[in-house]
Amino acid sequence: MKKQTYNLFTIIVMIAAVLRITFMTISIPSLIFSDLLVEPDPTGIANNTTTDPSYGTGNNTTTDPSYGTGNNYLDPFGDNPFWNSSNYFPHGSAGEIDGTTIVVSIFASDPYSDWDSSRDAKTIANIKKYLSIAGDYLEDVVSDYGKTATFITDFEANPDLRYDMYFEDQLTDPDYLDYGDIDYDVWEYIYDNIDQSELMTEFNADNVIYMVMVNSDESNEAITCTRNWYDGMPYEYEIIYLYNIDYEEVNCPAVYAHEMLHAFGAPDLYAESEDFRIDEDFLSYVEENMYNDIMLTCTDLSSYEYNYRNVTNEVGEVTAYYVGLTDHSDIVDEWNLRESEHLE
Ligand SMILES: [Zn+2]
Repeated sequence: MKKQTYNLFTIIVMIAAVLRITFMTISIPSLIFSDLLVEPDPTGIANNTTTDPSYGTGNNTTTDPSYGTGNNYLDPFGDNPFWNSSNYFPHGSAGEIDGTTIVVSIFASDPYSDWDSSRDAKTIANIKKYLSIAGDYLEDVVSDYGKTATFITDFEANPDLRYDMYFEDQLTDPDYLDYGDIDYDVWEYIYDNIDQSELMTEFNADNVIYMVMVNSDESNEAITCTRNWYDGMPYEYEIIYLYNIDYEEVNCPAVYAHEMLHAFGAPDLYAESEDFRIDEDFLSYVEENMYNDIMLTCTDLSSYEYNYRNVTNEVGEVTAYYVGLTDHSDIVDEWNLRESEHLE
């Protein structure tokens, strides 16, 4: 862990806290993480995605209660294929980060955007590189805790890790994402087209993360986010929706790593979450004391920009606890945050 100093970022955070200015009102999107600025659900409807597509309030990472209470998310395709299956995972398809994880890249097209192997060769090569950097970073993080992780992300060397999916709805329509309709389409696609158990056998993998790659441009208003599994959801797939560009910037490797950590159970550390009992006071504590945590920021704090060469943000003890690298966190205890799902 880096020694914590009061740098410019911290000062901005402290001033913002004092003045109760949210990051949303400071017009510095490059300082912000991929999925911070999600507007609350304007309808106020307590649907499956509540106040944000999953992400803003951190309820993506566990018990959005409507998933488990008999609404339309329950078993939309008939008998649940996993609840009675030997392939059932108690924590979704990404359970324990110390192990082998395969990242399945699903290149997504819709009536407005698609992927062209020639035209988009550079973008696709960058995505492959950022996935690799994120995987290497997470391997190092796990290693710091005396455990071993392997991330297999290369969808060119391993063509079985690449799929192409066509969507009839517009992928950059925030409503399609925010109201969870996209989840149904992707769940169904994976179930029909990807033999997860065969892939896991092929790669001797313990975990699977699905990453839906969207070829968005600067006009995109949808935000990169993760739909992760929790008890009561119909399918176990851990799905990241990766918009190549959101907030008018190409997402960097730290964003990939941030989302992957969601898949293993990490909450956002920039938004209140009833489920995790993350409140305004705790967020202030994070901003002052854990200001470089990757679940708070994906910006390189030495340049205040995204870093496309490596990840300089940290996995602090709270995040380590929630992804199962430790079974205890003093900070979690002190703030009476929720127990890690890995201990349940
Ligand atoms: Zn997040």
